[in-house]
Amino acid sequence: MTAIATVQNHIKFTFPAMSENESLARTVVAAFVMSLDPMLDELNDLKTAVSEAVTNAIIHGYDERNSGMIDLEAELDGRTVFIRITDYGRGIHDLWQARQPMYTSKPDLERPGMGFTMMEHLMDEVTVQSVAGRGTTIGLRKTISPVDMRWH
Ligand code: ATP
Ligand code: MG
Repeated sequence: MTAIATVQNHIKFTFPAMSENESLARTVVAAFVMSLDPMLDELNDLKTAVSEAVTNAIIHGYDERNSGMIDLEAELDGRTVFIRITDYGRGIHDLWQARQPMYTSKPDLERPGMGFTMMEHLMDEVTVQSVAGRGTTIGLRKTISPVDMRWH
């Protein structure tokens, strides 16, 4: 009997909530999932979702004050990737409203209010836990397709 190896791995890193670190965060996540040999689309989806969540933490969680820390955790269980992005900023008082397409609390910055909608579209699941005044954790889950099920 051949055992099917399941990949299990877990990383956590913490960085200051500065826009310079948004590309760092998505690059780290991309490198983390490379062992699964993801398709380019899957990789781009993960990178985009991480960017949206980290940008939200910087712009909304910490109001672009360049202060405060963001924790990023990524976990592999088989071919499923779990990512948690946590800020300790202002929190979200109305989660339902925040997740509506085209809702933004910063219309003056001409934000389209589509960050959550994009994350939901690109990931298998998006969870939001938030406490006003304490911070927000965004959970992203996506399963990477098996290599032998692809067309190429
Ligand atoms: P876009 O992402 O399209 O540039 P946006 O960031 O306003 O615009 P979403 O990402 O969908 O849109 O977020 C919707 C709203 O949820 C935000 O305007 C903000 O009020 C709130 N929000 C999102 N993330 C956080 C966070 N980490 N902390 C506090 N509030 C947040
Ligand atoms: Mg956003």
